[in-house]
Amino acid sequence: MLGARLKQLGVPAIILEKNDKPGDSWRNRYRSLVLHDPVWYDHLPYIPFPAHWPVFTPKDQMGDWLEMYVKVMGLTYWTGSEATSATFDGAEKRWTVNVLRNGVESTLHPAQLVFATGAYGPPKWLDLPGAERFNGEILHSSQYSDGARFKTKKVAVIGAASSGHDVSVDLWEAGAEVTMIQRNPTTVVRSDTLMDLAFDIYSEQATADGIDVDKADLIAAATPFALQPAAQRALYERIRARDADFYQRLQATGFLLDFGDDDTGLMMKAYRTGSGYYVDVGASELIINGDIKVKAGVAIDTLTPTGIRFADGTEIAADAVIQSTGFQSMHEVVAQLVDRQTADAVGPCWGLGSGHRNDPLPWHGELRNMYKPTAQENLWFQGGNLALSRFFSKFLALQLKARYEGIPTPVYRPPLT
Ligand SMILES: Cc1cc2nc3c(=O)[nH]c(=O)nc-3n(C[C@H](O)[C@H](O)[C@H](O)COP(=O)(O)OP(=O)(O)OC[C@H]3O[C@@H](n4cnc5c(N)ncnc54)[C@H](O)[C@@H]3O)c2cc1C
Repeated sequence: MLGARLKQLGVPAIILEKNDKPGDSWRNRYRSLVLHDPVWYDHLPYIPFPAHWPVFTPKDQMGDWLEMYVKVMGLTYWTGSEATSATFDGAEKRWTVNVLRNGVESTLHPAQLVFATGAYGPPKWLDLPGAERFNGEILHSSQYSDGARFKTKKVAVIGAASSGHDVSVDLWEAGAEVTMIQRNPTTVVRSDTLMDLAFDIYSEQATADGIDVDKADLIAAATPFALQPAAQRALYERIRARDADFYQRLQATGFLLDFGDDDTGLMMKAYRTGSGYYVDVGASELIINGDIKVKAGVAIDTLTPTGIRFADGTEIAADAVIQSTGFQSMHEVVAQLVDRQTADAVGPCWGLGSGHRNDPLPWHGELRNMYKPTAQENLWFQGGNLALSRFFSKFLALQLKARYEGIPTPVYRPPLT
């Protein structure tokens, strides 16, 4: 999206993609993945999805759309091209970026470098005691694509947020015996309920009423982050009242449920930490009826050769363990490609500095390090869900355009880290 915006603004840019085709980052994800947000919320800039598009886009269709988008928008897009390292020359104000393009090394010297390497950084792996003697396979959800080979196998899925739920359903559909292991409470909201109560300005009705995606984005952005918790708390009071019976049945399984430590629900968790929630498109009912088992609130003591032993002395058998434990901050990609010192100077990405769990103060007012100048000159971050990427890519593109044209761009205060 940023590439498309830059193209429209006449700013030359090369998009580096290590995969073979645009859209592969979606195609390579697990088989059953469909977008959890409805189509009216997911449009890309300039070319909205057509009217017949499904409400929840399947991942391969998303991949194909992106491939088409690159062609139709005329983007300079290098596939099979992995950025392997980058260094900044403070005197020349230029980066040196080394790229392995289809196996051949080449070097680029851009003035600006944007990390658009995914909503999150590298996978977060748990260091599981006893892993070396476990006889089965240990994967991260980012490596998981298809449950077929786990048919009839016992699989432990560690993590009970979006990927944990999706992977569990995929495994169950493939005929595996699944236990989801939950350490912390998860915010769960039924997709139908979100559609009815939370996506009012991004909906078929809103479109019919003349609120297109651009207007909806402005309406959404008109409430500063500082004022959103109160509105979200009120929304979640309605959601909890409406789905009281569903939540009661889910908790009766032992599943740990929360709505954030200040009851503000899913969206505030998404802004603050980008983790710890699930939009229910079916997994919760499988948990309620026992098709997917849950082991909640008990720490893992150790892996054994044939399964997992918990701190309370109980054990489960497992042929495979899939860590659906999320991803590190995007600044860890900077550590890999530039160096540790630069990554530490820039600091973590995402979160608001709310002081709530995993989102330490100071208050930033905006998403930490995203779409704005960072502590490293000429280094930027673009990412987030499709809606945030769509809206904020415009402002990042304008900041890059100003610098390209040599227009003064004073920053109102040094970036907080
Ligand atoms: C399981 C899952 C479900 C999701 N569901 C939704 C959803 O329902 N709705 C939604 O809006 N968002 C969803 N997201 C978030 C989703 O990641 C973003 O919306 C979207 O993918 C962001 O696009 P992106 O281009 O920023 O990141 P990505 O799609 O992750 O693309 C980053 C690209 O960078 C490439 N790359 C990384 N390092 C290098 C390198 N060194 N050199 C060259 N290329 C590199 C990768 O190959 C990748 O193709 C989901 C994410 C996950 C993991």
